[in-house]
Amino acid sequence: MSRPNPKPKADKRRDPFTTALRELRRTLPARLPVRVRRCRLEHGTFGDCRLIEDEPQHFRVRVSSLYSGDAQVFALIHEWAHARAWFVEDPDHDGHFGIELARAWKVIGAGGEDEEEA
Ligand SMILES: [Zn+2]
Repeated sequence: MSRPNPKPKADKRRDPFTTALRELRRTLPARLPVRVRRCRLEHGTFGDCRLIEDEPQHFRVRVSSLYSGDAQVFALIHEWAHARAWFVEDPDHDGHFGIELARAWKVIGAGGEDEEEA
């Protein structure tokens, strides 16, 4: 690059959180769009997931920025499973949630590398 970059930003492509989110969107889409943001949540809260009824309907996932990178990825996986299981049963930690959580773990546990598209 010939242009100087006085304030280098974190390389989003290599951010584990961004990688995990991209893989979840690609591999395990929810029934509605999922808007994800990292922000300050109260201590002890790693993340949450809500159905936002305003048009266009979507899920809002928030992940606490107060915790380490790994904790943010774990929280993302957990909240993504809530979004996936939302319309199946009571949106709580039930069996369908557990299945979706396992699926999400499998995706992220694969290392987030792009698989060959057949
Ligand atoms: Zn939960």
